[in-house]
Amino acid sequence: MDEKRTVAGTGRRAMSDNYLTVIPTDPHWQPSKVAADRAAAMLSEMLPDDDARRGLEAMWHDSVQVVSCGANLETVSCHHCGGEFALGWWAEAVSERYAEGFSTLMVTVPCCEVEMSLNELAYDWPMGFARFRIEILYPNRAWLSDEELASLTGALGHPLRQILIRI
Ligand SMILES: [Zn+2]
Repeated sequence: MDEKRTVAGTGRRAMSDNYLTVIPTDPHWQPSKVAADRAAAMLSEMLPDDDARRGLEAMWHDSVQVVSCGANLETVSCHHCGGEFALGWWAEAVSERYAEGFSTLMVTVPCCEVEMSLNELAYDWPMGFARFRIEILYPNRAWLSDEELASLTGALGHPLRQILIRI
């Protein structure tokens, strides 16, 4: 996943864009500017080079946004019974909630008819929903380690989920 693909001869990266993104586990939570700056500075230190650091950006959103893992999404399943969802069902559930501005993320899942948040479904690869994110375009590295994620959680003041996005 930390491959760095370039188009031969141009020095430019090929078609697919890669992002490493961290989001609060609570989709509605937003940090103070100070806490966000602290976490962004720490995350910047975890990157291998200035190229990667230039791609780092902290973003606040007025409403909940989908933070997709793009082409990395393989399965979505139920954290209650383990049933795997048809991606068509899931995409429709997201569209319906999106049309309502994500005022709620709650859905009743078809497998066991339990009501749960779209943010709490089991995503492989991970993705989520958030009103704040720190994203890095072309991070030039793979997943953060558990220790790195724990340090960032301390800096931000809220548990985080990391997402590797391939577009
Ligand atoms: Zn279920």
